[in-house]
Amino acid sequence: MTGGVQGIGGATSSLLADRGYVVCALDIVNESHPDPRVQSIRCDVTDSAAVEQVFAMIESEFGDIDITVCNAGIGGGAPVADLTDEQFDRVLTANLNGVFHTARAAVRSMLSRRQGCIVTIGSVFGQNPPAGTSAYAASKAGVAAFTRSLALEMAPHGIRVNCISPGHIDTALYRSALERRAALRGISLSAITAEEEEVIPLGRFGTPEDVARVICFLCSEEAAYITGQRINVDGGLEAF
Ligand code: NAP
Repeated sequence: MTGGVQGIGGATSSLLADRGYVVCALDIVNESHPDPRVQSIRCDVTDSAAVEQVFAMIESEFGDIDITVCNAGIGGGAPVADLTDEQFDRVLTANLNGVFHTARAAVRSMLSRRQGCIVTIGSVFGQNPPAGTSAYAASKAGVAAFTRSLALEMAPHGIRVNCISPGHIDTALYRSALERRAALRGISLSAITAEEEEVIPLGRFGTPEDVARVICFLCSEEAAYITGQRINVDGGLEAF
């Protein structure tokens, strides 16, 4: 589980532990997961060698890797005219290269056993981005396309790969994105919060647990015939 200490990843780590999995939360934050059942491992997914090393360590300490959730991600953005090469690269490297590094390490581990399940985390902004999110939107559209191709590549090997596109989920990442969009439009945080909540057909922001439950479903036997899909967990936002 990458980005597994807080937010969507934090909730998913605990839910997977509830379901009996040994869970390793790979994250760059300097904190451990609050749930003592979850093993916190410091790992930056932008560093492909570090990801390979951590996967090898997990296999030798805890055994076969059955599930990998490529969740770590960052926000960040600016109008394209102001966007620097560094800002663009930083978002793409964390959100897209990070998924590639993690999914590659996972399939290398899963291929010989001909089983396994990978879930990537995209975003509804990968399909319908608002202004000022070009780098993030490009990274998440890339995650969705990467997932679909990988699913086709892995299907003959018994490995399922799906992508979840969350909508507006109440986490630290979403709150700082709201602040950025409010500043960009010159409106207050409370105004943009109300505006974004109002357009969600189910009438509320999502919780990390709303997404965690769908990730756990995709990883379960109940989803044994689902692969190559992109599933929105967005309170109906994309149906709007
Ligand atoms: P979050 O609360 O910020 O949690 C993400 C975690 O990933 C943080 O602990 C973060 O550490 C960590 N992380 C960032 N870069 C990393 C790296 N290079 N290597 C390892 N860990 C790293 O965010 P979240 O809202 O739960 O988001 C999880 C995923 O869902 C992200 O991919 C995000 O794009 C996606 N998503 C979220 C929403 C939403 O509304 N919340 C909507 C659509 C998609 P730092 O705090 O130090 O960065």
